[in-house]
Amino acid sequence: MRFLTANYLYPLNISPIKEGVLQLSDTGEVINIFENRNDVFTEKLEIFDGILCPGFVNAHCHLELSHLLGKAEKGKGLLDFIGAIQQRNSYSAIEKQIAINKAEQQMITNGIVAVGDICNTTDTLSQKQKRNLKYYNFIEVFGVEDDLVKQIISVAKYLRNQFRKAGQKATISPHAPYSVPPKLMEEIKNSFSTEDELMTIHMQETKHENDLFEYKRGSFYNWLKEINASPEVWNYRTKSNSVLEELGNKKMLLVHNTFAKKKNVTENYYCTCPKANLYIENALPDYSIFDADKLCVGTDSLASNNSLSILEELNIIQENSNFDLNTLLKIACKNGAEALGFEKLGTFEKGKIPGVNLIFDLNELKVIA
Ligand SMILES: [Zn+2]
Repeated sequence: MRFLTANYLYPLNISPIKEGVLQLSDTGEVINIFENRNDVFTEKLEIFDGILCPGFVNAHCHLELSHLLGKAEKGKGLLDFIGAIQQRNSYSAIEKQIAINKAEQQMITNGIVAVGDICNTTDTLSQKQKRNLKYYNFIEVFGVEDDLVKQIISVAKYLRNQFRKAGQKATISPHAPYSVPPKLMEEIKNSFSTEDELMTIHMQETKHENDLFEYKRGSFYNWLKEINASPEVWNYRTKSNSVLEELGNKKMLLVHNTFAKKKNVTENYYCTCPKANLYIENALPDYSIFDADKLCVGTDSLASNNSLSILEELNIIQENSNFDLNTLLKIACKNGAEALGFEKLGTFEKGKIPGVNLIFDLNELKVIA
């Protein structure tokens, strides 16, 4: 049994507690919370300088792209970035595995306990089977030509089943509104069954996505025409949100939302990846438009970020929003756990095994449990 206390405890399901004490079992399960150090009769009280909060949930990552660290040039925009990602297969399997292992280790050191991870391959599966972290795997599909729909969805189902056979949560999800025509959306919707909890999708990462749907023009429009995309991609969609109806209004985690507008914000969960947004588009979302109880945070991949650190992401959000520390930590822990359905994570409620991070000034972090 351990009794942990610091300047403040941030349980996140209740208000912060000054000098509160967190009682943990040997397996890290929350046994009790004490409002006052004097209420705890033990000589084993561990006193820390800083604050204690639950382990972080990285709601959006692409672990399998970890070997692309530093390969995409900064600030070149999303179209250029997509080009850089297409080099992903010119690396050996060993190089990829080493990078995946290192990236996961970095997340552990940075106090992350669970990840919403985008997968186009099974490259990360052997690492995930070590169960160092919890993962919700989103099997990502895209393809702008209508005649490839059957082939794309059957590959996705094969990948999803590989993850499920290994005991991992896995759901087929669309890449983005501009890369998935309605026919493929329909197949993705039909693949969703009782084993699935939510879907994710990249949304409004660039203003060109808005131009495509609202005005049928701009660099995405030109690019899609050039690659012979089905005109169904833009013909009947008037905004990115149109795809939510096509998907049957499932529980969704919408990622990026850098160019989202307040009038289009839905009741879904939203994920912001501020460092990746700065890296690719040199822009950030307007944080005042989101419901703070539905906002999550992700690192995106090492292809568009120089680190996998939720604390670094929180620093950027703090500088660009009015969120107080309790709200920032909810974004980093509670909301992501709720979105991804990790019931034992996210808060210091009795019975949970959430992990414990010690944070000092939103800069230094140490994993305590
Ligand atoms: Zn992403």
